[in-house]
Amino acid sequence: MAGAPGGGGPGPAAGEPLLQRRDSGQGSPEPPAHGQPRQGFLSSLFTRDQSCPLMLLKTLETNPYVKLLLDAMKHSGCAVDPGRHFSCEDCDGNVSGGFDASTSQIVLCQNNIRNEAHMSRVVTHELIHAFDHCRAHVHWFTNVRHLACSEIRAASLSGDCSLVNEIFRLHFGLKQHHQTCVRDRAVLSILAVRNISREEAQKAVDEVFESCFNDHEPFGRIPHTKTYARYAHRDFRNRDRYYSNI
Ligand SMILES: [Zn+2]
Repeated sequence: MAGAPGGGGPGPAAGEPLLQRRDSGQGSPEPPAHGQPRQGFLSSLFTRDQSCPLMLLKTLETNPYVKLLLDAMKHSGCAVDPGRHFSCEDCDGNVSGGFDASTSQIVLCQNNIRNEAHMSRVVTHELIHAFDHCRAHVHWFTNVRHLACSEIRAASLSGDCSLVNEIFRLHFGLKQHHQTCVRDRAVLSILAVRNISREEAQKAVDEVFESCFNDHEPFGRIPHTKTYARYAHRDFRNRDRYYSNI
C-alpha cells in the first residue's frame, strides 16, 4: 500500500475502508463533509473564486517546505501532479484541509484557507501525510498509532507549531512549547477523524511520541523557520546528488 501520489505502487487493498478526509491540524476537529461532488483543480480554475488554485500554485513554486517535500516525494517514487493530487473544495466547519489516502489526494478547503501563509501550512502538513503514505505501509484506519505518528510529524515539521503561530494562539511562554504544541495538535487531529476518547488518542500519541517526534525526514531537522527549511532543502538536494553518484 506504499504507492501513492503518482507512484507505481498499488492502491489500498480492496475492502479496506475508504480513508475519510483527514484534518490538517488547523481549526476545529471536524472532518469535512462529502455531500457535494468534488471540484477538480483545473475546473476550479474557471469558477468564480480563483484564489485557492492560485494560492496553491504560488505555494508549490515558492514555499521551501513544500518544495523540499515535493522533491522528496519524487525521490521516493511518488511524484506529485498538482492537477491530479490536489483538490480545492468547500468543507464543513473550519477544517482547512485533508489527505485522502484512498485517492492519494490532498483536499484544500477553499472556504477556510485565509491567505497565502495559511495555504502553505496546510499544503505542508498534508504533504507530510502524503510522504508518510508513500514511504511506509501506513494503516491509517486500523492502527491508531500509525495515524498518531504521522500527525506528530505533521504538527512538528509543518510549522503548525512555530513560534509565530503559537503566539497567535496565546500559548507563548510555555516551557517546551514546541513539544507541548505538537502533542496537543496531534491529539486534536486524531480526534477529528477517529471516534475514540481523548484518553485513547493521548495514549496513542504518548506511545509513539519519542520515535516519531525524532523522525525528521525528509527535513533532517525541525524546520522552525523558512530559512531552516531552505537549508534543509539544500541539504536534501546535496544528499540526493551524493546518493545518486554512488
Ligand atoms: Zn494531519
